[in-house]
Formats: sequence, structure tokens, C-alpha cells
Amino acid sequence: MTGLAAGVDIGGTKILGVVVDQADPTTVRLEHRVPTPSGTEAVLDAIAGVVQTLDDKEHGGDIEVVGIGIAGLVNRAGVLEVAPNLPELRDVQVRDELERRLDLRVVVDNDATCAAWGEHQAGAARGVPDALFVALGTGIGAGIVAGGDVERGAHGFAGEPGHMIVDPGGPLCPCGRRGCWERFASGSGLGRLARDAAEAGRLRRSLALAGGDLHAVRGEHVATAAAEGDQEALDLLRSFAWWVALGVANLVTLLDPGVVVIGGGLIEIGDPLMDPVRDHYSDLVMSYTQRRDVEIKAAQLGERAGAIGAGMLG
Ligand SMILES: [Zn+2]
Repeated sequence: MTGLAAGVDIGGTKILGVVVDQADPTTVRLEHRVPTPSGTEAVLDAIAGVVQTLDDKEHGGDIEVVGIGIAGLVNRAGVLEVAPNLPELRDVQVRDELERRLDLRVVVDNDATCAAWGEHQAGAARGVPDALFVALGTGIGAGIVAGGDVERGAHGFAGEPGHMIVDPGGPLCPCGRRGCWERFASGSGLGRLARDAAEAGRLRRSLALAGGDLHAVRGEHVATAAAEGDQEALDLLRSFAWWVALGVANLVTLLDPGVVVIGGGLIEIGDPLMDPVRDHYSDLVMSYTQRRDVEIKAAQLGERAGAIGAGMLG
């Protein structure tokens, strides 16, 4: 028994694999990444290739189990039913196909669930048995750790708060409904809020950073302007943070976690985002004074959280 696991995170653009020692997940032993190819067979072959490359570097045969995290709805039999960022992958028997290719035990789960487990095992939620993880990227991913275990729900689909409806008259979501939380509180939500503000004559520095093109204004321009100390960008981040805090407060009211970990690309904005999120959250959550100890923390594992967590689920 080596206790070594390979964890692989499958994203829309890259496949990232790591080797972790399950006895000490805070150290990643090896890492390997390849671009995500197109086509179901090509993706499955690429995942198997990443694991084999890692296993070869690890003296060959030392990896005992493989965990896979994929952005999408993964059922309890390891079947990827739908993946919004990998639309050609539908009803794919990921677990069985990879066990056949690798001759190793394979477990498959949602990528944000894996990232939540990674942060719980080795990152910002280490040692906290009830934790909520929310990743603010292009969309919103989330994972719930309850009683020291991952909460998956009856079908394996638990933890999709990005599609909680927060404004029934709001903008259309790729999921087919209107006003989902991620339309407001993700990177694309920030971009939309920024374009609206620029159109109304505010956000002049961010607009300049976007080359003066209203349609080109994105969250990263706001982030850059805010880092320079631009007051209009800081004000916009404060408005945006209200939407983030709204969903977080609702989730805390429902789940009562011991910690909330915020990850995803937007976390790089840092304090200009996190400080107003904490402020708004304290107003929005039920019984704030009774749960003052619940910290809203930045994730610690970055892009490796999903792969580390997947390895630890194996
Ligand atoms: Zn939606």
C-alpha cells in the first residue's frame, strides 16, 4: 500500500492531474497538464494519458486509485450526464471507461465538489467538518461538506447554487431559466454590471482599460482599475459584492457551515471584493450575531483544489 492517489480535474480548456499522498494531501508530489481535446473518446484517452504519465514518473504502478473531477452533473454511478463547458460530453460512463483503460479503481465527481473536498482536506477549510465552498469563475460552482463528508444529494447533483433563482425577471441563463444567481455573482455577472455602468457614463477608468469599447468591458478591467485605487471601480465591486453576499447568506441560512471558502478566478481581486462581501453578508444572513465565528475566507489551493480533492476522494 503506497497511499498514493492521482487526482484529475477536467476543465473546458485543460486537464490537470496531480499525485497526492492520502496521508498528507497538503503536498502535491507531481503535476501534469494537457489541453482538453474535443470528442468524448479523445477526452477519455487524454485523462488516461495524464494518469499514465503521472504513474510512470511515480516509478510505475505506485498509484492505487484515481479521482476525477468534471464540471457538470455527475451521477452516483460515475456517469457524466451533462457538462455545460464540454457540450459534446453527454451520458458518458466516465468511471467505467477509465477503469477499463487504466485497470485502477476510479471515482468521478463534480469538479466543485472535488474542490470543496480539496479545501477541506488541505486548504482553507482544513479541520472544519461543516464547510461551504463557492467558486466564482465564469459561472458559479459550489461544494458542500457536511459532518466531515461530501454532500452529494439523492442523484449526485447537490451543490449547484449558481442556478438558484434570485431574480425571476432577470437575464436568461444558459440553463434555460431566468435570473439565476450566477448571472449576477460570477465573472460574467461582473462584466454585465460593468458594461451597464460604463453605458451610464460611470466606470471611466475601466472603460479606458477596455480600449474605450463599451462592449469590451470585462470583470478584469474593473479588477485592474480597482487595484489602481479607482473609486468608480471600487464602488462597482461593492455593488457586485452584494449579489455574491446574497447567495452566500442564503446558503449559510440553509446549511449553517462553520466556514465559507470563496474560490475561483474572481478571488484574485482580493480585499476590494472580499471586504464588501463580508460587510453585505453580515446584513443579509439570518442571526448574524449568533454565528459571528463563521469566517468567509479566500480559498488556498487555487487551480489545484479540484485535482487535489479528486485524489483525496479516491
Ligand atoms: Zn441557470
